Amino acid sequence: MYPTSIQQKSYKDFLSFWHLTLIPLALCAIIEVIPFGENDTDHFESKEMAVETVPSPKEALAPLPAPIKPDIFSGSVEYSFYGSALASGASPDTIGYLTSLASGKFDFIRSVSRSGKFAFKIDDQNQLEAFLYQDNQHMFYVYSDDKGALFSSDGEHFYKDKLLLSPVSRRFRVSSPFNPARRHPITHKVTSHLGTDYAVPVGTPVVSISSGRVVVSRYHPLAGNYVVILHPDGLRTRYLHLSKRFVQRGDNVNQGQKIGTSGNTGRTTGAHLHFELWKDGRPIDFEKKRTFAEKIAVEQISAQTADAKMALQRLALQIAK
Ligand SMILES: [Zn+2]
Repeated sequence: MYPTSIQQKSYKDFLSFWHLTLIPLALCAIIEVIPFGENDTDHFESKEMAVETVPSPKEALAPLPAPIKPDIFSGSVEYSFYGSALASGASPDTIGYLTSLASGKFDFIRSVSRSGKFAFKIDDQNQLEAFLYQDNQHMFYVYSDDKGALFSSDGEHFYKDKLLLSPVSRRFRVSSPFNPARRHPITHKVTSHLGTDYAVPVGTPVVSISSGRVVVSRYHPLAGNYVVILHPDGLRTRYLHLSKRFVQRGDNVNQGQKIGTSGNTGRTTGAHLHFELWKDGRPIDFEKKRTFAEKIAVEQISAQTADAKMALQRLALQIAK
């Protein structure tokens, strides 16, 4: 009984956590397709007009006026990547989206050389689907779809970015789990431990698990140096006991952006990162959610990887021309 209820709860949490962004989108789509009321004469008129303008079979056979746009464009770096990408036919929006996806993974100014070749693949909605850059030293590939973005620096390994699941880059031991009724190690009183403590050595980079806005960045005698970030969908994360803070209140942060380094400041019994996740003012057991979310991410990634590999092959062929 117990494990079942836990799983259900995790599943609900997962749904609210990862899928809440889809609900507003779905609502937009519904609003878009809801017809006007039946008494709306304009609507009926336009419907009748539409019937009258249906092309005759002869007209329907006429060739389509719009030429099919190429979905891949490529080029080589001349003076700057940005200028060369524009010259190849990529829109400023596409390049901007690419550089934001690649932020922290690939540097389009310093890592790009004049021997470099690149290719963009655009989907039928004119959105960036895949990008490949290659020169003698580097290879950078990104594949993006509505489920997230996959990256590869060597053409082999893909990893998920939009489901970044940790405030630190690798797994550290949980030194104290989420526990709403814990005996505090210093005061020995039963108090809530509304976060997870990770045994992270001092100086380890701490990143924001999602994009958002910094609402607190300061020192407190108990929390030490700490940062609080507000994310979309009523999510809030807190990062405590940091040795350094790299963000200020009011800053916008990207997912994966370094916000500080872990430390041992405030009231602690040793170096660790205390991390909290809140949803609509309610604390959430992040580790429980993470285990479930990771399982889903692995399933999604294997399906996406197959598509990504096909797109990579096409781009590589284009570059080789
Ligand atoms: Zn803690």
